Amino acid sequence: MERTAIRRRLTWQVGTVTDVRRETETARTLVLEVPEWQGHLAGQHLDVRLTAEDGYRASRSYSVASAWTGDTIELTVEQVPRGEVSPYLVDVLKVGDPLEIRGPVGGWFVWTPEQEGPVQLIGGGSGVVPLRAMLRAHAAAASTTKARLLYSVRRPESVIYVSDLKELAASDDVDVRLVYTREAPAGEPRIGRIDADLISQYAFKPEDGATTYVCGPTPFVETVADLLVAAGHDPAKVRTERFGPTGGPR
Ligand SMILES: Cc1cc2nc3c(=O)[nH]c(=O)nc-3n(C[C@H](O)[C@H](O)[C@H](O)COP(=O)(O)OP(=O)(O)OC[C@H]3O[C@@H](n4cnc5c(N)ncnc54)[C@H](O)[C@@H]3O)c2cc1C
Repeated sequence: MERTAIRRRLTWQVGTVTDVRRETETARTLVLEVPEWQGHLAGQHLDVRLTAEDGYRASRSYSVASAWTGDTIELTVEQVPRGEVSPYLVDVLKVGDPLEIRGPVGGWFVWTPEQEGPVQLIGGGSGVVPLRAMLRAHAAAASTTKARLLYSVRRPESVIYVSDLKELAASDDVDVRLVYTREAPAGEPRIGRIDADLISQYAFKPEDGATTYVCGPTPFVETVADLLVAAGHDPAKVRTERFGPTGGPR
């Protein structure tokens, strides 16, 4: 029974793009309808496989950006310059096109509404994608769990999910803080990376018993995880996902 479930999860399936949304100049959200999709947990990712006309294949991992509501799934892809897969997903794929996917993958970097204790989300760049799925799951369950998002971006134009985040920031449910590393909007004087000072100002305290999810480029994730542990957070409650290079020809 269990083996059947695993086999089914790891089989390539074909989804259809039903909508696309430009998030920033370099990032786009793809909405996919996948008839055989078995559902996923917030934080999980999947593999995407592209096949060229000559049969050459390449696959990469992408986090699911949406909570599972039984309908469609969303991916948000940030274009990596000269990348093999991401430029195609951001600039070429269009509504009606098929897309091969396999998943969901990952069981540690997930949040479910049943989980106890506050939830602290810390993302850098496109690392906000699985954190947004967690916030979506939080909203879909009308969860009363305290949630905070600390999101590090280069400049205001690089913010992914800008309208979602504005809506969340205006509600009482989630505390949203943006940190700009290169250029801040008017009225936001601070420019800089997440450091010990910001962690002590905006993160839950170690005694709050929060589970922290850190996602982004590998150096970002390692720095933030080290800062949290140095600030007294239990390493077992700091879950990380590194968006380093994945896949390759296949
Ligand atoms: C678990 C997981 C989840 C991920 N989820 C997402 C997601 O939701 N959205 C998203 O946009 N990306 C995500 N990624 C990254 C994604 O898998 C690809 O690595 C990325 O899209 C680049 O692929 P590419 O084929 O365009 O570039 P490649 O052809 O693989 O690489 C081109 C060049 O860019 C460098 N490079 C590759 N990946 C990165 C990167 N992530 N950052 C900086 N330089 C890189 C390579 O070393 C190489 O020099 C995730 C990665 C992991 C491991």
